Amino acid sequence: QEDLFKKLIAHCKEYGFVFPSSEIYDGLAAVYDYGQYGVELKNNIKKYWWDSMVLLHENVVGLDSAIFMHPTTWKASGHVDAFNDPLIDNKDSKKRYRADVLIEDQLAKYEAKIDKEIEKAKKKFGDSFDEAKFRETNPRVLANLEKWTELHERFSKAMNDMDLADLKQIIIDYKIVCPISGTSNWTDVRQFNLMFATEMGSTADGASKIYLRPETAQGIFVNYLNVQKTGRMKIPFGIAQIGKAFRNEIVARQFIFRMREFEQMEMQYFVRPGSEMEWFEKWKATRMAWHKALGFDESNYRFHEHEKLAHYANAAVDVEYKFPFGFKEVEGIHSRTNFDLSQHQEFSGKKIQYYDPEINESYVPYVIETSIGVDRMFLQVVSAAYCEEEIEGANGKKDSRVVMKLPPALAPVKLAVMPLVKKDGLPEKARAIIDTLKYEFNCRYDEKDSIGKRYRRQDAVGTPFCITVDHQTVEDDTVTIRYRDSMEQERVSISDLRNIIHDQVSF
Ligand code: ATP
Repeated sequence: QEDLFKKLIAHCKEYGFVFPSSEIYDGLAAVYDYGQYGVELKNNIKKYWWDSMVLLHENVVGLDSAIFMHPTTWKASGHVDAFNDPLIDNKDSKKRYRADVLIEDQLAKYEAKIDKEIEKAKKKFGDSFDEAKFRETNPRVLANLEKWTELHERFSKAMNDMDLADLKQIIIDYKIVCPISGTSNWTDVRQFNLMFATEMGSTADGASKIYLRPETAQGIFVNYLNVQKTGRMKIPFGIAQIGKAFRNEIVARQFIFRMREFEQMEMQYFVRPGSEMEWFEKWKATRMAWHKALGFDESNYRFHEHEKLAHYANAAVDVEYKFPFGFKEVEGIHSRTNFDLSQHQEFSGKKIQYYDPEINESYVPYVIETSIGVDRMFLQVVSAAYCEEEIEGANGKKDSRVVMKLPPALAPVKLAVMPLVKKDGLPEKARAIIDTLKYEFNCRYDEKDSIGKRYRRQDAVGTPFCITVDHQTVEDDTVTIRYRDSMEQERVSISDLRNIIHDQVSF
């Protein structure tokens, strides 16, 4: 699995999906750029989210707020005081780690041991294997489960109380060592604020310290009154936004999973106090359905209920996906109470109330939030789509291919049009086909190398359709269409292409 992840990262670079930022200067840690195919995939992910949130919900509207916000915003939201990670340094390697991440890794190790036992048993017993029973009776599984449960309970409590001394004690008790030096020679656990600060205005004028937003949500909260009034919105209603967020993350690893500059797609849904749990459940189901509609293996998704709630929340759940490095959060669904709006009301002195004509009462609305990282969703999609396959090549020889089985709606390029040879009017014919389709679909023209090589190139970037123009095309206006996943080919009329493609690339 680790190996697969390395291959995926290499593939993303080789095929123009993701590059390390400023690579010619050896890169900048945890910052990445999206290449020619990456940007298209990213845009398609954003469109899939935006359309399903804003276009399909009559009472959800969009917003695009600034990255810079008045500094008091972050005092009101609690980010100045409480947006901290617990950090520990290894004295030998001089590397800094998040204490909670080290402990989570230890938990994952117990889980991996359990998975390994199950895999082994599956191989041994074949069809007759009863996994549930095995989990309940196998002594090695039970021993690891016991360790996992003990550690998990202690860890949750320490995180809940932000008990820094106990976090360190856990690291000692569970003999957790630095992954680089292999030693347990640690400093104490300290807290570190994750917001990036900069200055606005020149120092001579008295510059003021401002922050790069660590979440897009606050831009929505401070605009609540503007949108509610100008849009004449009635509760319940939502505001959706896609935009950059910045966090000075300490553990820069796992590629685009945890970045310092990333993009979020957030929606705040404003509801009547007391109805928040009902909406929390509704959005939980809606969001999971959105993920599953992409058609990837459903067993790779799960909910993870939070034991440790943020200072503003009264319920929280993550949608987790089984990445090559284990189940991890892709999206958070949070019941944020009226914490943020109340805080902004207090700090700004502006009344943020909603008059609810149905119950004849004014109140500060409660909020359900759905928050997903574009980049993390990107990683989820490419992890799920990346496939290495043994296939039958030319002359019946064994061959292999790497294919990105992306949902056609998300694929960066929808079709590649290829003249069989570079003469006899075939290139012109191929370009004419592109001219009729390019306003609707992202098309690529490719005439270089053998047809087989061209197919492989398109497989590697996930293009669902390859259209080949040959001599027969010039005579009867038919082409071959080759389907990425099945590799089947059929002869179709040029005039049918638009409908065939359209049917498959729309949600
Ligand atoms: P984590 O526990 O992984 O740090 P979080 O719980 O702090 O995440 P939220 O603050 O709830 O995350 O942010 C919502 C979403 O934004 C996450 O589900 C994730 O998809 C994305 N996200 C958060 N931090 C990062 C990051 N550093 N890089 C990329 N995406 C991120």
